[in-house]
Amino acid sequence: MFIDKEAFKNDFKKKIINMYAEDIEECSPSHKYFALASLIRDYTSENWLNTNKKYTNNKEKQIYYFSMEFLIGRLLHSNLLNLGIRDACKEALSDLKIDLDELEEIENDAGLGNGGLGRLAACFLDSMASLGIAGHGNGIRYTYGLFEQQIENGYQVEVPDNWLKEGNMWEVRKENKAVKVNFGGKVMPTMENGKLKFLQQDCETILAVPYDTPIIGYDNSTVNTLRLWSAEPLNKDFDFESFSRGEYSKATEYKTLIESISQVLYPDDSRQEGKILRLKQQYFFVSAGLQSILRRYKKLGEPINNFHKYIAIHINDTHPSLAVAELMRLLIDEENLAWDEAWYITTNTIAYTNHTILSEALEKWPIDIFKTLLPRIYMIVEEINRRFTDEVRERYKDENKVNNMAIIGNGQIRMAHLAIVGSHSVNGVAKLHTELLKYQELKDFNEFYPNKFNNKTNGITHRRWLLQANPKLSNLINETIGDSWIKEPNNLILLKPFAEDYYFRKKFEKIKLENKIAFSNYAKSTYGMDIDPNSIFDVQVKRLHAYKRQILNLFNIMDLYRRLKENPNLDIVPRTFFFGAKAAPSYYLAKKTIKLINTVAYKINNDTEIHGKIKVFFLPNYSVSLAEKIIPCAQVSEQISTATKEASGTGNMKFMMNGALTLATLDGANIEIKDAVGDENIVIFGIRKEEVLDYIKNKNYNSYEFYNNDFRLKYILDSLINGSLGVPSNEFIDIHNSLLKNNDEFFVLRDFSSYVEAQNKVDYLYRNRDNWNRMCINNVAHSGIFSSDNTIKRYYEDIWK
Ligand SMILES: *Cc1c(COP(=O)(O)O)cnc(C)c1O
Repeated sequence: MFIDKEAFKNDFKKKIINMYAEDIEECSPSHKYFALASLIRDYTSENWLNTNKKYTNNKEKQIYYFSMEFLIGRLLHSNLLNLGIRDACKEALSDLKIDLDELEEIENDAGLGNGGLGRLAACFLDSMASLGIAGHGNGIRYTYGLFEQQIENGYQVEVPDNWLKEGNMWEVRKENKAVKVNFGGKVMPTMENGKLKFLQQDCETILAVPYDTPIIGYDNSTVNTLRLWSAEPLNKDFDFESFSRGEYSKATEYKTLIESISQVLYPDDSRQEGKILRLKQQYFFVSAGLQSILRRYKKLGEPINNFHKYIAIHINDTHPSLAVAELMRLLIDEENLAWDEAWYITTNTIAYTNHTILSEALEKWPIDIFKTLLPRIYMIVEEINRRFTDEVRERYKDENKVNNMAIIGNGQIRMAHLAIVGSHSVNGVAKLHTELLKYQELKDFNEFYPNKFNNKTNGITHRRWLLQANPKLSNLINETIGDSWIKEPNNLILLKPFAEDYYFRKKFEKIKLENKIAFSNYAKSTYGMDIDPNSIFDVQVKRLHAYKRQILNLFNIMDLYRRLKENPNLDIVPRTFFFGAKAAPSYYLAKKTIKLINTVAYKINNDTEIHGKIKVFFLPNYSVSLAEKIIPCAQVSEQISTATKEASGTGNMKFMMNGALTLATLDGANIEIKDAVGDENIVIFGIRKEEVLDYIKNKNYNSYEFYNNDFRLKYILDSLINGSLGVPSNEFIDIHNSLLKNNDEFFVLRDFSSYVEAQNKVDYLYRNRDNWNRMCINNVAHSGIFSSDNTIKRYYEDIWK
């Protein structure tokens, strides 16, 4: 898109007057931000309309990505970049004495996700639009996103994230496209014109109102749609019956109850909380999404039997797997199809991505809850299960297998099984993860459906994570190899020869330092942290979870501190360790780990005897916008999950793309990063999947052995409970127990020694700074293959097309 500077200035001034009846001089920064965002949305409206018209006129196949989470972060910066007008806007605003960077900082993150899974959905939206693919998001418009994390006295405190408080300029409320969603009631089988029909009676009907956000492609005039649903009472204000009976509080209670469906995002990552409200949320956005897709489809004038030829629905993890049963319901009850026809269409429309094999994360719903809330859907699930188990029984004549594979078993509905049976494709998110699915966790299903399972390694949008987050490095890349990489990320490989160019390495080093200085200044003014920009920036930012092993990182720091206390002249390269992680509010050990990190940080940072050789900082409120700040200045990327536990990881990709060295276990996509950059450009440590699986199978791991045989571990673990950390001695007893009495489920003690060695290797490698830079540049050069553009092309070719 092209904008004329003078015209833009006029538009902007007019916008401020229209919105706020203010002159630009008296207008607050926040009003300026809102006016700018609103103006940019105006600029995209025409392309948005035209994109939709084009899709309808060409009858293009529409892809719908169903996800309970879209962790999109801020939109102003990325929208300006994708429209190709950021430089022009920046100049024009600067004429008006306005700093665009400052306005961009005002925007609240749309934090409608927990972590990797929600961020993946956001990266996919950017790539689909940028590739000109007709792909849209379908989810929930949570009034409150993921909580804001504050740290008080070292503890996490959760504050509600009221992100919509000041308004959201990007979304458009489409009241005329609202649909109704039913809960509860009973199902009445009735004969209608000689056909058995299932009428739902006495249901609670809720209005689902869509809010659409434009998803702007990079330099291509495509504008796709993210449709997020909000729950409202049918009767706008309140329950009139109660109201007219004089029961005022009951009348508003009713409204609150209904709105609670889209009120908050569940703050759980990789754990499952069997709450009824969550099941309601799932059915709510799945049903609303499917109804609106069906309505749009019918306008094409195509017979219903061709549905799957024009529509692909992708479900992000099992959270939307009710889509299988709901699409069946709509096709049978509303479109009058026979079961077999409906099943053919459903299974050819839906595809499913599995994100985890952690048993505590697998979704299962108790039958009684499910049946009461969704009686008709339950009947359909029962029938799907009956037909499926009949087939399995027929084929294997093995009741054990039937029970293991059934969709309904042990009084529960197994959502993963429903998703597998009801879709034509099941993919894992990294090579190792897909192998584990095919040959371990879902072996029976892979045998039963030999062609269903496939791998699609995750990716990240290089436009946000490099072009936007790291403008200095992006400019250096543009000067060196041109800017074709923005549309063809694989072209980043053209940087490879420059890893051998001394002057290029120096320029790269200078930019990393500038990014580190900028972040240090930001951290000083925002949190009062004193950071040495010349130290190595060692970063672990991701959700807090035992399997991600923040504890392992911390144990090395505690050991390093012990060595420094014993020998203040210990020759190490000064290092700053950064942590950033939210813990689920109900995840006790994760919250204790945050307290432990902060306790150790306090002790180390205030110890003048070690001359500031190491420092530890916990960055509060890890979010997309914080990630965009810390990742460009990171030098060591901590990817240290227990092998087999991290399905893919995407943080690992963001770091390598910004020229950090990965310190990693052979887990998830770390393996593919290693294969891409080569052994000489990554530091690998720890036990591999074989050893982990053997330990689990043979039950022969004993964490006490490591405690008893390694004085370093003994010292660290003892210090957790002997009061030497300056907190009451029972503060960390449960962490201590999890590692010893409860036998260290994630093999922290087993990997400790190997990790310390790897960290020493990092220190050693950094001393040859020139070669270090060479390694980092090689990482950037090989990062293009992890662009979500590549991932999306593979989804499109193998699954959606
Ligand atoms: C990328 C990202 C994640 C995922 O990080 P992992 O290291 O893959 O767990 C989580 N949260 C935010 C805000 C992110 O940007």
